[in-house]
Amino acid sequence: MRLANKTALITGGNSGIGLATARLFVAEGAKVTVTGRNQATLVAAAKELGPNALAIVADATDIAATERAVERAVEKFGKLDIVFANAGIPGSTPLGGTSLEAFESVIRTNITAVFFTVQAAVPHLNDGASIILNGSVISVLGNPGYAAYAASKAGVRAMARVMASELSPRRVRVNVVSPGAARTPIWNGAAPTPEAYAALDNRISRSIPLGRLGEADEIARTVLFLASDDASNVQAAEIFVDGGSTGSPAGAPIYRG
Ligand code: NDP
Repeated sequence: MRLANKTALITGGNSGIGLATARLFVAEGAKVTVTGRNQATLVAAAKELGPNALAIVADATDIAATERAVERAVEKFGKLDIVFANAGIPGSTPLGGTSLEAFESVIRTNITAVFFTVQAAVPHLNDGASIILNGSVISVLGNPGYAAYAASKAGVRAMARVMASELSPRRVRVNVVSPGAARTPIWNGAAPTPEAYAALDNRISRSIPLGRLGEADEIARTVLFLASDDASNVQAAEIFVDGGSTGSPAGAPIYRG
């Protein structure tokens, strides 16, 4: 049990990477609070995760709701050892076709809410706690149509470094996990049918050196590492879990003879 006696908060813990991480954390002995906006998937997550989990409806862009969720988590399970600020949205914001509202919605959820989630948690953290922020390969790849999302995830990396400086006196670690394309419901909007999903999967996989999308569990296991004492000297780092997309893009199947 790598997280025995630890308490964790996971935003966006009712789907995809957040839910996979919640499952793993509970299996490793943690008491876990998950948040999200969708009541039905939160109820399902709570049922699946069992008595060592608490699910709370809280929109991460609502600062007061986030503060209340942190307080409820602490009331139930005690001060926090782990915060995974994972909630995020995709969003297409191409040059020439983007409203201020669409741009700001991505920024509000993916950066502003991440900052205020951490700010809400800070007074309730045990010294030596671990904070993990969810970034993305898109912060460095320059994918067309993703200006706001890319900026938001680059902002997450920059913020993590500042937060690590501010929280190091309390031995609180702040790190980023940056997934490459991974098989989660985040793609459902872009690929609403099984056929569209298969085509998208095939197209993206050809651009990844390891030749496939990632799985939520693979990211969850990296989050577990960063959350646990195994990463006790890892501070202000960013770990890519991306099949080589950022480190060795020229190894992708599309470049093979
Ligand atoms: P999902 O769509 O499965 O999960 C997103 C989660 O975020 C949901 O639980 C959702 O819950 C929650 N969420 C979104 N907005 C809010 C909000 N305002 N308040 C509270 N919760 C919110 O996608 P993933 O698991 O893939 O995404 C998780 C993170 O991983 C995101 O930050 C994403 O950017 C990042 N990522 C994902 C990649 C991928 O390919 N899957 C690649 C790179 C990064 P609800 O709808 O109930 O609010």
